[in-house]
Amino acid sequence: MRSLVLTGALLSATTATAAACGSGNAATGGKPAVMAAFYPLQWISQQVGGPDVSVAGLTKPGTEPHDLELTARQVADIQDSSLVVYIKGVQPAVDEAVAGHASAKAFDAASVVATLPATAEEEAHDEHGHDDVPYDPHIWLDPSRLATVAGKLGERLAEADPAHAAAYRQRAAATATELNKLDEAYRSGLTGCGKKTIVTSHAAFGYLAARYGLEQIAVSGLDPDAEPSPTRLAQVADVAKRQNVTTIFTEELVSPKVAEILAKEVGAQTAVLNPIESAPDGGDYLSAAKQNLEALRKALECPTTEG
Ligand SMILES: [Zn+2]
Repeated sequence: MRSLVLTGALLSATTATAAACGSGNAATGGKPAVMAAFYPLQWISQQVGGPDVSVAGLTKPGTEPHDLELTARQVADIQDSSLVVYIKGVQPAVDEAVAGHASAKAFDAASVVATLPATAEEEAHDEHGHDDVPYDPHIWLDPSRLATVAGKLGERLAEADPAHAAAYRQRAAATATELNKLDEAYRSGLTGCGKKTIVTSHAAFGYLAARYGLEQIAVSGLDPDAEPSPTRLAQVADVAKRQNVTTIFTEELVSPKVAEILAKEVGAQTAVLNPIESAPDGGDYLSAAKQNLEALRKALECPTTEG
């Protein structure tokens, strides 16, 4: 709330120009300006929007998106954009800016898929709180749900920019096909594995786990910055030992210290499982998801695929 109050004066100064821009934008050569809240939404916007839109991200590469604070400039950019692509419940600052300045031109990706409730366990350990939404917002880690998002985003862009409607729909369909192929690779790659429990750093993998029959035990809650209590660590270590877990997953943007302590306690090794909340180094959503599949197959002792 604080940053929005401070930027109020700046915003009213830009309102007149924003209104005059309509769905195009002078700064983007007349193309619709799409503001994507964080990486996977930026990726899907670029895939579906292609050369017909100008996509900008609100979260800098290499930064963890959950605790994003918006600058006055970014709030103004949200107001001036043609479409804001976000997921309500991931970034409170973006939720507030959208509610205050862009509710009519926002696309909430969580609103077009079936969401899963945040488990009581996750909420109890989520100190920062995503208590404004009753669901787990990490929908992008299920490729089949992201395929649905691609289709709906294509429709939304087609409505906003009818001159390029056919191209948006065509790219949305191609992106959905690609994501459904990835879903199939996960489904077959995670069949017949020796284990099904994944111990993760924060609870980002609930949709992935539900989709492919795995069980996620998250050390911290839905927010990666929530520090786990010693009681929580002891609980996780206990369950991990009982389930014969041999890999404790870490993520690149969170300190591996907790995972290392836990791995030592359990007698396991650590490996990276990427929540794909930020742009992967030298790859994209698809390559990061494929790396995740390989990491999961190794940790869960899945049978080697034939052919
Ligand atoms: Zn997360």
